[in-house]
Amino acid sequence: MSKITHHIPEEMLRAYAAGTLPQPFAVVIAAHVSLCDDCRSVVEAEAAVGGALLDGLAPADVSSDARARLFAALDATPTPTPPQRGSGVFPAPVMEALKGQPPRWKMLGGGIRQQILSADEEGSLRLLYIPRGRAVPEHGHHGLELTLVLQGSFSDSEGRFAVGDVEVAQDDVDHQPMAGDEAPCICLAATDAPLRFHAMIPRLLQPLFRI
Ligand SMILES: [Zn+2]
Repeated sequence: MSKITHHIPEEMLRAYAAGTLPQPFAVVIAAHVSLCDDCRSVVEAEAAVGGALLDGLAPADVSSDARARLFAALDATPTPTPPQRGSGVFPAPVMEALKGQPPRWKMLGGGIRQQILSADEEGSLRLLYIPRGRAVPEHGHHGLELTLVLQGSFSDSEGRFAVGDVEVAQDDVDHQPMAGDEAPCICLAATDAPLRFHAMIPRLLQPLFRI
């Protein structure tokens, strides 16, 4: 794999390690961390600090009755399903979001395809497929967008993003990502607010896209 040059900002990694990020962002960061040794070491260091803080807390005085109820509850907990493994270009956190199934693409026009993985008040998480050399309609953001490249590459006013790279786009970024020529570009994108498209037709289609 080519060297990753666009990483997750450190304060975002800390929030991820603390478990305070909205789920769509947490999945993108988990997928990047699974591909990136640098960011993984930051998250592991943060987790170690958090664990040490918990260890320092005085143990609660648990009555034997409460303990019995706790163990009964643990016994009743169903066995968790085994974690998904990565498959093809999709790292394990993406396969989790896909529930182990291959993507079921919806055509968006211009050869661009999408699968919504989740969409609620926390934001949305989706996979995007952009044919070689094709551009996504220019758009700005109301909020924050994180885009992780899983296959191929894209370029926009912020630079070139290849496999493992993450683009962090704030509301002030207007961009028109264009896929590279080497392969169709597949990305995982998380947003915390609907995008606003500039051109009339994409704006009319937006409710359909649910992005
Ligand atoms: Zn990184």
